[in-house]
Amino acid sequence: MPFLALAQCAAVWLFFEGIAVNTTNPDRALIWYQVSALGAVCFPIAFAWFTHQVAGPLRLALPLWQTGIAITAMFVIAALVSPLFVGGVADTSRGYQMVLGLVGRGFVLVFVAAMFALAVFYAVQLKRHANSDYRHRRARVLVVTAVLGAALLVSYLPALGIPYYLDTVWMMVGFFALAGYVNVRYRTGDITPALIGRQIANVMPEPLLVLDRNGQVHQINPAAQRFFGIARDAATGRSARRLLGQDALRQPIASLMEGRAVDDFELEVTDGNSRRRTLSVSCSAVCEYGESPHAFVFIMRDISTSKATQEHIRELAYVDALTQLPNRAGFCESIGRHIEQAPDTRIALLFLDLDRFKLVNDNLGHDAGDKMLKVVARRLLHSLRKDSAHRSDDDLMIARLGGDEFVIALYTSHDLIQVRDICERVLRTLSQPIDLGGQEVFSGASIGVSHFPDDAKCLSSLLKCADLALYAAKDAGRNTFRFFDEQMSARSRARAALEADIRAAVENQDFRVHFQPIVDHRTRTIVGAEALLRWHHDQRGMVRPDEFVPVAEEMGLMSMLGDFVLRTACEELNRWHELGLTHLNVAVNISEHQFRRDTFSSSVQRALDDFDINPRRLILELTESVVMNGEGGTRDGVRSLKQLGIRIGIDDFGTGYSSFSSMEQLGVDMVKVDGRFTRAIANDDQASAVAQAIIGMARNLNLQVIAEGVEDEAQADRLLRANCSFMQGYLYGAPMPGEQILQLLRAEAPSPDQPNPTLSLPQISTTRH
Ligand code: C2E
Ligand code: CA
Ligand code: CA
Repeated sequence: MPFLALAQCAAVWLFFEGIAVNTTNPDRALIWYQVSALGAVCFPIAFAWFTHQVAGPLRLALPLWQTGIAITAMFVIAALVSPLFVGGVADTSRGYQMVLGLVGRGFVLVFVAAMFALAVFYAVQLKRHANSDYRHRRARVLVVTAVLGAALLVSYLPALGIPYYLDTVWMMVGFFALAGYVNVRYRTGDITPALIGRQIANVMPEPLLVLDRNGQVHQINPAAQRFFGIARDAATGRSARRLLGQDALRQPIASLMEGRAVDDFELEVTDGNSRRRTLSVSCSAVCEYGESPHAFVFIMRDISTSKATQEHIRELAYVDALTQLPNRAGFCESIGRHIEQAPDTRIALLFLDLDRFKLVNDNLGHDAGDKMLKVVARRLLHSLRKDSAHRSDDDLMIARLGGDEFVIALYTSHDLIQVRDICERVLRTLSQPIDLGGQEVFSGASIGVSHFPDDAKCLSSLLKCADLALYAAKDAGRNTFRFFDEQMSARSRARAALEADIRAAVENQDFRVHFQPIVDHRTRTIVGAEALLRWHHDQRGMVRPDEFVPVAEEMGLMSMLGDFVLRTACEELNRWHELGLTHLNVAVNISEHQFRRDTFSSSVQRALDDFDINPRRLILELTESVVMNGEGGTRDGVRSLKQLGIRIGIDDFGTGYSSFSSMEQLGVDMVKVDGRFTRAIANDDQASAVAQAIIGMARNLNLQVIAEGVEDEAQADRLLRANCSFMQGYLYGAPMPGEQILQLLRAEAPSPDQPNPTLSLPQISTTRH
């Protein structure tokens, strides 16, 4: 602007002076001189403004500027109206020449003074900036320019009456050449937003595109050129669609045109190296003076790396590393999304659990277990993808929820028959043998099926329903499937209520321990007792252990309850021993969880120590299934218990598959023949033969045998004849509270003068507790 003003002043000055000189009419020459004088009088202040803008503030006080402007204005008025400025014209051999009036002469002085003042000012700067190359050079040029500007006044010499005619055009050209040079080369004051904007666009690392209304590239910054691998010239004027390979910017441009703000959005593009990249794009419209936008700025951030990291994290969170199927989180997310997108969808959920996975894992190791899961995943995918009705991934999802649990969601299926078909097919493929590195195993699976929205309206209940159906399938003998029905949930509610009651009973210490006498039938004396857990519930009445023990076991409470029984039994035994009945034993039932706990043998040791028990008098009853499952771990567990000096008994013997040889290997001391054999022994010949064989073999191996559930004399007689004299059952007494059995024992306690008691059993109450 200042440069333009300066040029304007010079142009008016010289142009009209030229016209005036060449005019033949003196009156008109006078007028042209007056017009030309307007250019001249504004020249110094324009030059001051120019240098002020170009070389930084002149640091002239405001009053000085105001004075300068006022003087200029005065001269302008004078030049326009007063003959004091242009006094007249003189006819010379070189045309009409201006004659300056008094004010005009004054102006010449002011002009020269102002120009020299500026020259001096920059000369001072020249010295001050001796060490700054840039400013030093600029000041030098400005000094010369100012001197040259002052020298322009030679064109006024004739007007002052000095007949000296010089062609000032070349001076003017020189002046402008220098002024223009400073303007271009040394401009610092004029830091326009456009200049800054251009520089920012040039150095910013993010690609930037400026598009016009037609979506054509108006400007592309170096980062964008590098990113898209395209030269500036090749890109400008081209449609952004060609550059991005898509019309993705049309929509935001349309929104911006309508004056709506556009949120950042993501864009998948191919970069100059043909790699797929993800850009996060921010955009804004360029509008001036409230007009509708005429340009659109798009700043793009390459977020491919963070996107890839995000994707990787997502994968870790949502995909099962072993089978590459979605995991529980992935499954829930995907099915949740599906329901959200299509609320009236129908889903059949197949909850699948392998029947013998635990066995494989425990016996063949985790590697074999992992391999088995992979094979199962592959077979599921293969068998279901082949199904023509469920070919695409959109209407089918297979996930592994954890352990050996898989789910299959069939989205479009609403035909029960079809789901039935699929279940059968899945069971068929999974019943094929699986080769685990040379060893073939048969797994088989059970499936529970629930339907959305018929059975449940939310995912968690849907899963619960399928899970209940799965339990029903397992109860039905495994390798089969069941559809969810209402009764299952009634059962599950009953179960939940039982769990809550058990928890409350633990808290309120409602559990008791009763003792059932174990008797040597030959001598009719009590040789010990079995400790049995009892729970009396206000509403439920007496709850049978068969009902609550397995539930408490699944709830993980049995270990703690078992410890309670163990300590109560030891406490009771201690009482008996203090009566002098040191030959009495106590048998305590041990649950699987309790037995497998690492700290179990130390808690047995503690009970022995705390109640000062002779370890030989404590018998721990393990079930056959506990002893037979779990391989080496069991052997170590039994061994460490035996090291405490206690005895081990096998409960319910004859109902499982344990062999006598393994009993012997494990160092078992005693077997308890299940009540079923006892009952059979009096009437069923075959069972009787089995019972007799069991007793015979046990005795051969020096194992103690105790017959359970002896209810009448006939059974007792038969057992005795089969060489089994230790018996337990209602015939001798039902389980009873500690005080009651203590009374019984007290009655039998040896008096000092009768050291070897042979007790005749009294009539014991057989009320069942
Ligand atoms: P079990 O260890 O086989 O216990 C013997 C069961 O037979 C007891 O049932 C007992 O009351 C019952 N019984 C005793 N005499 C007779 C009889 O003459 N005829 C008949 N029909 N039954 C008789 P109970 O007390 O209901 O216990 C059932 C099962 O609960 C026990 O079977 C045992 O497996 C489990 N249990 C009981 N208390 C505990 C405990 O403290 N810990 C663990 N882990 N399990 C326990
Ligand atoms: Ca028992
Ligand atoms: Ca038993």
